[in-house]
Amino acid sequence: MEVTYLCPHCIGAINALDNIILSAKTEKNKHGLILLHEEIWNYSVIQTSSINAELGEIVDFFCPVCHASLNTEKGDHYAGYIRMDASGQESKIVISREYGDRRTFKITGEDIESYGESARKYMYPEWFL
Ligand SMILES: [Zn+2]
Repeated sequence: MEVTYLCPHCIGAINALDNIILSAKTEKNKHGLILLHEEIWNYSVIQTSSINAELGEIVDFFCPVCHASLNTEKGDHYAGYIRMDASGQESKIVISREYGDRRTFKITGEDIESYGESARKYMYPEWFL
């Protein structure tokens, strides 16, 4: 299935070869790229040696194309981008910005799906809608 992930600001595609490519900055002010698997339930992560984020560190995410912040304004420590599936249906993906925190939400219209073991600890935040 061909899936495209898009920056909500420039609508540039941010995925290639099964990975979502995000520009990132850690709390210790290290910059680099973090690659997330494009399958939402797959939490394998690749990061460049320049960033080397540690578990529990809060990471700022930026679009690799236009460099706009992908951090969400509401809520603590989330970032978001757009997912378009092969049929052209758009969803909003919200991820935790805490490195190693497996918490992902997929919002399609008013429907929220949650992924990752950490997601179960939280109520669905209605501000996603
Ligand atoms: Zn962008």
